[in-house]
Amino acid sequence: ATPTALMVGTGRGAQLGILIKGPEVLEATRTVDTVVLDKTGTVTTGRMSLQGVHTVEPGDEGAESELLRLAGALEHASEHPVARAIAAGATERVGTLPVPSSFENLPGLGVRGTVDGHDVLVGRARLLENAGVEVPPALRSVATDARTAVFAARDGKALGALTVADTVRDTSAEAVARLRDLGLTPVLLTGDSRAVAEAVAAAVGIDEVHAEVMPEEKVEVIRRLQAQGRRVAMVGDGVNDAAALATADLGLAMGTGTDAAIEAGDLTLVRGDLRAAADAIRLARRTLATII
Ligand code: ADP
Ligand code: MG
Repeated sequence: ATPTALMVGTGRGAQLGILIKGPEVLEATRTVDTVVLDKTGTVTTGRMSLQGVHTVEPGDEGAESELLRLAGALEHASEHPVARAIAAGATERVGTLPVPSSFENLPGLGVRGTVDGHDVLVGRARLLENAGVEVPPALRSVATDARTAVFAARDGKALGALTVADTVRDTSAEAVARLRDLGLTPVLLTGDSRAVAEAVAAAVGIDEVHAEVMPEEKVEVIRRLQAQGRRVAMVGDGVNDAAALATADLGLAMGTGTDAAIEAGDLTLVRGDLRAAADAIRLARRTLATII
């Protein structure tokens, strides 16, 4: 083995915006046959914006601003991309938001807290159902294949739903094609709804989708693929992805993501461009070929 080849490899990697944690990482790039891609923030930009506001009684303006005030107030305390979109959209539409007197973050589900003396829930339909709140079918239907629906409840009753939309990164389809060219089967992994996940998968050319996965279950998906005899690379950006990145045979973190993901990954894609995942694997394989 010539250490020079490795230095050349990592130097070129730095030029391409790829940081490799250590030489032992290279070996894994040769054996991986599956690449699991997190959706939000990895395949999509993760910069979401508030789209629709739907109340249980359609067209009730007072109810609409109450929904925005309560949901916006709670989400203001969360870092989640969905939460940021709702807090920003609510502030834009109803002005200054009240400050919650209590707040609890429920990863992969949403948020819960007290606003203006009311017990408020904001998140997935599952969050409301877990608390015994019924979500009317008419509200549920606001979720479409391109929009994530977030439901809100006040004091045990559904108030309404908000929809947020994200954008697929314009480099993602090309990145998926390049990963396929390297012999990797792409898999989409997300906590978001099946409809949204399928739409994003179709847009970038992915056939295998794991949707509505709870944060702690992401690791299980990786383990199940490994149990099938697959060698798994994972690309992610979120706090929720850290354990999955560490469990994967090769973890690639988006440099635009959280510190937890970067810490857990073997490789960092500095520019947050998914095409760099394919570049990194190709470069690492070539570097290995030079050393051996
Ligand atoms: P992903 O795997 O796509 O990065 P998460 O596991 O973080 O997503 O969240 C899964 C789903 O839970 C989101 O798509 C959203 O519907 C819901 N969710 C999570 N956190 C919040 C929140 N703070 N407010 C509203 N909805 C949320
Ligand atoms: Mg993510």
